[in-house]
Amino acid sequence: MTQTQVKRNNSDVDISPLPDEAAAAKTTPMMAQFLEIKAQHPDCLLFYRMGDFYELFLDDAVAAAGALDITLTKRGKHQGEDIPMCGVPVHAAEAYLSRLIRKGFRVAVAEQVEDPKEAKKRGGKTLVKRDVVRVLTPGTLTEDNLLDARAHNYLAAIGCAGTALGLGWLDISTGEFQLQKISPATSAAKDGGELAAVAAALARLSPSEILVSEKLYADPVFAEVLADWKDHLTSLPDSTFDSANAAARLKGLYKVAALDAFGDFSRSELSAAGALIAYVELTQKGRLPRISPPRAILAQGLMEIDPATLRNLEIFQSISGNREGSLLATIDTTVTGAGARLLAARLAAPLCDVAAIGERLDMVGFFVEAAPLRQSLRDNLTHCPDLARALSRLSLGRGGPRDLAAVCEGLCRARDIRGALERSAPPVGIKAAMGALGSHSELIDRLSRGLAGDLPMLVRDGGFIASGYNAALDELRVLRDEGRRLIAALQARYISETNIPSLKIRHNNVLGYFIEVTGSHLDKVPIAPEGPFIHRQTMAGATRFVSEELTELEQKITHAADKALGLELKLFDDLVGEVTGRAEDVARAAIGLACLDVATASGELAAVRGHGRPHVDNSFDFEIKAGRHPVVEAALKEAGAADFIANDIDLAPDHRLWLITGPNMAGKSTFLRQNALIVLMAQAGFYVPAASARIGLVDRLFSRVGAADDLARGRSTFMVEMVETAVILNQAGPRSLVILDEIGRGTATFDGLSIAWACVEHLHEVNRARALFATHYHELTALSASLKALSLHTMRVKEWEGQVVFLHEVAAGVAEGSYGIHVAELAGLPGKTISRAKQILSMLEKGEQSGALARLADDLPLFAAGNDEPQGSGPDSGPSPLEVVLAKIAPDDLSAREALDLIYELKALVADKSAAEKS
Ligand code: ATP
Repeated sequence: MTQTQVKRNNSDVDISPLPDEAAAAKTTPMMAQFLEIKAQHPDCLLFYRMGDFYELFLDDAVAAAGALDITLTKRGKHQGEDIPMCGVPVHAAEAYLSRLIRKGFRVAVAEQVEDPKEAKKRGGKTLVKRDVVRVLTPGTLTEDNLLDARAHNYLAAIGCAGTALGLGWLDISTGEFQLQKISPATSAAKDGGELAAVAAALARLSPSEILVSEKLYADPVFAEVLADWKDHLTSLPDSTFDSANAAARLKGLYKVAALDAFGDFSRSELSAAGALIAYVELTQKGRLPRISPPRAILAQGLMEIDPATLRNLEIFQSISGNREGSLLATIDTTVTGAGARLLAARLAAPLCDVAAIGERLDMVGFFVEAAPLRQSLRDNLTHCPDLARALSRLSLGRGGPRDLAAVCEGLCRARDIRGALERSAPPVGIKAAMGALGSHSELIDRLSRGLAGDLPMLVRDGGFIASGYNAALDELRVLRDEGRRLIAALQARYISETNIPSLKIRHNNVLGYFIEVTGSHLDKVPIAPEGPFIHRQTMAGATRFVSEELTELEQKITHAADKALGLELKLFDDLVGEVTGRAEDVARAAIGLACLDVATASGELAAVRGHGRPHVDNSFDFEIKAGRHPVVEAALKEAGAADFIANDIDLAPDHRLWLITGPNMAGKSTFLRQNALIVLMAQAGFYVPAASARIGLVDRLFSRVGAADDLARGRSTFMVEMVETAVILNQAGPRSLVILDEIGRGTATFDGLSIAWACVEHLHEVNRARALFATHYHELTALSASLKALSLHTMRVKEWEGQVVFLHEVAAGVAEGSYGIHVAELAGLPGKTISRAKQILSMLEKGEQSGALARLADDLPLFAAGNDEPQGSGPDSGPSPLEVVLAKIAPDDLSAREALDLIYELKALVADKSAAEKS
């Protein structure tokens, strides 16, 4: 595969085609080199290294200057036109790269790949060879400055084999690598059902970049289902997704003869895995970071949450798109980046395995009880650097001295933490984490002896190896430093010999060491041949000289300094080798630390916020006592407002569907959401904001709350509401938990009421899910007469001195009114409008045909005949006798007599039917 085959779908990135080859041939050697490299990376901005700058030319320069808001200049001519150019200093490149990547650009970085001395050997003006050493794309970043420390940066791939799909995701900044088979059974069994399951998995992972084959990319169903991800897609040739090649690639990477030891992967999963590895090789120019062996994720083991539900419940972002106000922001009290990443991953993928949930809860419980230990571990973890990310950079050859120090510090902390835990009696999960921490004494000893206290950012700056670590290095450093002392002595001697007190010996990269004398003293300078000073340069206000003695000294210093730096680089490589040679153990320690961060943070959260341990089992129960909404509760506390009012719920099988009425602002939505969040937290392994919670496993969570237009997909607010409702009614089953808030509000009153009515019946009769249905259609309460598991509840309010007081308490029964006009008044609608609205309401209430709706309740158990039907079958009770007879008639075969007899028979059947209906 070549780089030119990569296409990116991003309309913001405008990189125009290159000039043709003939024109390029007429250009300067440097432009020719630029154009040649650029031709191999047409989809990228090319950062072309020139000295201390990365320069961009032609259209790349125009695009980058606009995106970065930097000056666009010009340099020479190409095809008779000025060549637009802009540049960024190498030392500040990361900040610019980060901005470009965030704006959707891909960047190829071309470095000098030979020593200029080598180039010189080929002839006077030969250009130094340059080549792309790396392509930066959103999903393949490793630098801390380009990454969010507290969020994963996944590169995902959708693999295919035949018609089957598989998903793979990889975070090259940590080496985490996972695969999941996509099963349509877990999603709508309609066209695009598999893709809907892919969309759910992608919503969970939130990848920065998604690789797809050209074939899939061109599929219209794919475009529709994955519309949310269109700016993240990178399409690659179909051959990149070949599962046979993939298997060979993985075997080669892990040096194994068979992949069985890692799991039983389907061809579609292998296809995704192969594409991921191929793409990393491509962007890292053949240099692979440490990548853990792929781990198989079983979709059945996870609670399925569709993208709309994730969004509606504001798990990772509030509806306004900010992290603040989300569940994650409220419950994330981890103190390390790795811990934050793990906590977010757990929240995105709650478990469906009672034992595994119990294990996580045991860990939290242990730290709820052991407060002093929890505190000391958290203090220790606070100082833990990001081991996994440092390790990844080191394994890619992109690490610096500070990454080595991070590994050393992380492993030291891990050792201390393990020591502290060994004095307690922790549960299984914590013991496993302790095992992962390891001891690493040898590596810690080596690194702490080898690294100096004050470390430079870059290896090339030198000075990071501790003195006393390597005798040869110490010797060279003495020589180098001695030389510097001798320079100072020479300067002092020249000052006294020339009697020029302002004489200075200075250094720069062009001249090396030189003697500088200001204008007024020039006549005192002992210039050759009479004196030792040789003229080098005249500046405004100063003149520069060298002397034989100075040049000799310089050579001695440079030689020693070069040798010292060379040796340091070698020692650095040795230390990196020590770390990467133990990469798996270091990576395991990083995972252990992240687990302990999540466990201690969750213990802290539970202790501080008064969360309790949920009981999760395989029943169909759902009983929560004194449940609270974690985000609203925290917001009220922060605002210093009144306390959050806790509420109970019990969705036992014989009252599994709660219909909740209540005025506006009474707290219906809050109550609905809090129960969904409590389930999600419980199954993700966290304590929950409730006095007690008994939860029969929920395998799918659905929510339809709030609404917004989806203009990008051409959907109005009501359409979005109906699409989301359709997903729920088509997919929810008895193990699901459904929360539906005000279905049918976005259309005309009777249409809305009818839809809401039919939805309640469908949920009750067909889906049979545990469900909460909040509505302002009080008419729906009539359904309790015919739907046995429907239970009526309302949010209590108190009228006091003409004012409505919202008590935020859930009670059995039906709301007495909506108080919508009261809320409108509170919101500041003009007084005249309010009094007119009251007048109209009273007229409407008088005219209401209440009897008709009561009758509807008796008439319409829509699904009566389908009660025992499996989900998805219609309410039809089979053909009537009349239809049976009609179906058998073959008109052309009937005699006149037979036809007459048949008419009598049909009339008799009709008479029977009306008699039966009357009785
Ligand atoms: P509407 O029908 O207008 O959408 P609603 O009944 O769904 O209203 P919510 O949006 O749930 O009402 O709640 C309104 C406000 O009431 C919340 O923003 C919150 O500040 C407060 N509130 C809700 N529930 C509680 C509670 N249990 N304790 C304290 N305050 C609450």
